[in-house]
Amino acid sequence: MIDVFHHGATSGVTGSCHELTLTPGMKKGSDPVGSDPNFTGTDPEPMGAGLTLTAGMKKGSDPMGSDPNFTGANAAGISGPTGSDPSFTGSGSAGILIDCGLFQGEDEGRGASASDLAIDFPIDHIRALVVTHVHIDHVGRIPYLLAAGFDGPIICSEPSAIMLPEILEDALKIGFTRDRQLIERVLGLIRSRLVPVSYRQWHSVFSEDNCSLSVRLQRAGHILGSAYVECDARVGDSEERIVFSGDLGAPHAPLLPAPESPERADRLVIESTYGDKDHEDRATRRLRLKAILERALADGGTVLVPAFSIGRTQELLYEIESLIHEFGDSAVGAGMKLGSDPTGSDPNFTWDSLEIIIDSPLAAEFTRIYRDLKPFWDAEATELVRKGRHPLSFEQLTVINSHEDHLNAVDYLARSHRPCVVLAGSGMCAGGRVVNYLKAMLGDKRNDVLFVGYQAAGTPGRDILTFGPRGGWVELDGERYDIRARIHQVGGYSAHAGQSDLVWFVQGIPQAPREIRVVHGDQEAKAALLAKLEELFPESKVLIPE
Ligand SMILES: [Zn+2]
Repeated sequence: MIDVFHHGATSGVTGSCHELTLTPGMKKGSDPVGSDPNFTGTDPEPMGAGLTLTAGMKKGSDPMGSDPNFTGANAAGISGPTGSDPSFTGSGSAGILIDCGLFQGEDEGRGASASDLAIDFPIDHIRALVVTHVHIDHVGRIPYLLAAGFDGPIICSEPSAIMLPEILEDALKIGFTRDRQLIERVLGLIRSRLVPVSYRQWHSVFSEDNCSLSVRLQRAGHILGSAYVECDARVGDSEERIVFSGDLGAPHAPLLPAPESPERADRLVIESTYGDKDHEDRATRRLRLKAILERALADGGTVLVPAFSIGRTQELLYEIESLIHEFGDSAVGAGMKLGSDPTGSDPNFTWDSLEIIIDSPLAAEFTRIYRDLKPFWDAEATELVRKGRHPLSFEQLTVINSHEDHLNAVDYLARSHRPCVVLAGSGMCAGGRVVNYLKAMLGDKRNDVLFVGYQAAGTPGRDILTFGPRGGWVELDGERYDIRARIHQVGGYSAHAGQSDLVWFVQGIPQAPREIRVVHGDQEAKAALLAKLEELFPESKVLIPE
């Protein structure tokens, strides 16, 4: 039997975690207990590397030496991995997880916050974790997975292997502990489990007499290192190709090559973040970005961009560099229509003199990694580099690192009204340095907030986007802030495929999948993609798993 389960990203776009499990000997009439004594799916060795953590620990593992700060799920009285899934077939199974992400925004409201982190499904039979990409909603629960006793490899692309410890270090610092030593031990453990694999190459996860599983990563074009996962599963005589899309990128995103459809998918699990809409095309979007920046900067305000550290930030920098390159010494705002309010604008203020500030150590670090990994860039970006351009390190770019410099920058920009673009995390305004900017700048109509990414329901970002244009307010750290700054959104930088791109991805598979599961989207997005796929693939069983 070959089963697909979902442990997240079914009621929204976060907490991504799927499971592919093979259970031999479950055919009618055959012995339901795995006949191979080596194939128990459990490993008596807890945790390896001598690290014992108490969050959701395996029964029987030794709690000695655990750090009281790393109590995780147990602190809230939530037990470790238990057999909560009735469809779980018990001993004899072997499987993999695809992603193990954090719940965010409204999805967090699944109960006590600690339960969001707990690994509340059985993992004894899980042989490996495959990471599609390093966004926190796909990898954020990895420390808890390890704490729960997972002792298999973490399989991912080569760029993801470089970025994963960085992103988890940040997540641990913010959500877990400031204990440097403990963080280092957790990261050391994660590094020791990483198995980077090249794109387009099969990697055997396990192979036994009665079943085997191999995976292959293909470029997903979403962020650097992102992959969709092809799984070749064999149980007895039956074999199947199951494909997990992860997050798919838009085909014309800057920097990364577009994803290509799988050559085969008997079953497909596909994301649907933008399952109900299409993005504007890249040329239109670039001109819209230009127009927004011109209008925003003409009155001497700050353009604040709540930034996701990985992907969108680098795409946006890439586009801004191209605008600076193209318009250089022409005045910002030169192309503005008559009738717009030029008060406070400086006719000498040119694109060349536009300052871009990255006020996010993490975004700056990932920008550096993007720069270092040029072999993974697409042809267009590679060509620019060959011509001597520096799309991610141009001279107008300033990075703010220390917290003190950050506070000074907020204060200075709020008072000086110097035209400037600031990228600050987090992308959905749910925390991070962008919150200080918002508090200081939302009340001034000279400022602008530009959203370039998806805003999950329940986040301040979603509220600003919804209520800002109506003159509403947003709650930040328990206080109400009126929104007078102008609010904009440029959709295409979300690094997610739009509806047509998702449909195209499925249509490109030579033989339509037998089953398509639509996950990782809001209800409307999932329903819209489901309807579209049902219409186009009447032979396929299309469903939205619970
Ligand atoms: Zn993602």
